Amino acid sequence: MSNSLRIENLNANVEGTDQQILKGLNLEIPKGEVHAIMGPNGSGKSTLSKVMAGNEEYEVTDGSILMDDTNLLDLDIDERSRAGFFLAFQYPHEIPGVSNANFIRAALQARLPKGEEIDAVAYYKSLYEKMDLLGMDRKFTARSVNDGFSGGEKKRNEVLQMLMLDPTYAVLDETDSGLDIDALRIVAEGVNNMRGPDKGFLVITHYQRLLDYIVPDVVHVMADGQIIKSGDKSLALELEEKGYDWVTAELAATA
Ligand code: ADP
Ligand code: MG
Repeated sequence: MSNSLRIENLNANVEGTDQQILKGLNLEIPKGEVHAIMGPNGSGKSTLSKVMAGNEEYEVTDGSILMDDTNLLDLDIDERSRAGFFLAFQYPHEIPGVSNANFIRAALQARLPKGEEIDAVAYYKSLYEKMDLLGMDRKFTARSVNDGFSGGEKKRNEVLQMLMLDPTYAVLDETDSGLDIDALRIVAEGVNNMRGPDKGFLVITHYQRLLDYIVPDVVHVMADGQIIKSGDKSLALELEEKGYDWVTAELAATA
C-alpha cells in the first residue's frame, strides 16, 4: 500500500489538439505533507490541477497519477472526488439555482451507501461549525453556489466545500488570490485545521505570502509544464526576492 499522491511523467495536451501543456511532470506528495507549487503565469499549474481532477478539456497522452493505490486516470471526475480527491478552483464556477447548503449536502449524500440518508441536524451543525471557522455569514447557506459572490467569498466557499467533504488529498489552486490579509489568515487556518498524518495537500500559489500561514514541507517550481526545482520553504522566499528567471537560467546552465 503506497501512501502518497504520485504523479509520474505526466504529459497532457489540450483535448483534440497537439498543444502540449504538461511535459513529463513528476511530483510526489506523501500523506502528512503539504507541498507548494509556485511558478510564472502560463506554466501549466492550473492545467495540472484540472488534469488531476479529470477535466475533459485536456487529454493525458502519457504518465500516471496514483492516489495511494488508485490510478486516478482510470476514474471519472465524480469517482475521483468520492475516492478522496478535492480541487479548490482558481476560478470557481457559479451555479445559479442550486443553494450552497443543498450542493454540499448532495456531494456528501453521494458518498453514502445506497439507501442511507444524511442526518439533516448533524449536517447543519457541521456546516455551521465550518462556516463559523471560516467567518462566513449563515446567509451563504441559502444563496446559490458562488452566484454573485465576490472573489474572496468564492475562495472561502471553496474551502468550506473542502472542509465539509474532508478529502484525503486536496489541491488548492491560487486560493489566496482575491483574499485580503484577514481572509487569507482565516482560510489558512481552515487548511491548517485539516492538516494531519492522513492528509496530503498541494497548494498552488503565485505569492509566498500564503506560505507564511500554510507552511509547506516542500516547495516546487513549475515552468513550461514541468517541475524544474524543489526545495524547502526557504525556496519560496528566494523566489519572492529574485523572481523565477534565475531558476530557469540555472537549469539552462546545467543542461
Ligand atoms: P498557470 O495556471 O500556471 O498560469 P495554465 O495551466 O492556466 O497556467 O495555462 C498554461 C498554458 O496553457 C497557458 O498558455 C494557457 O493559455 C494554455 N491553456 C490552458 N488551458 C487551455 C485550453 N483549454 N485551451 C487552450 N490553451 C490552454
Ligand atoms: Mg493558474
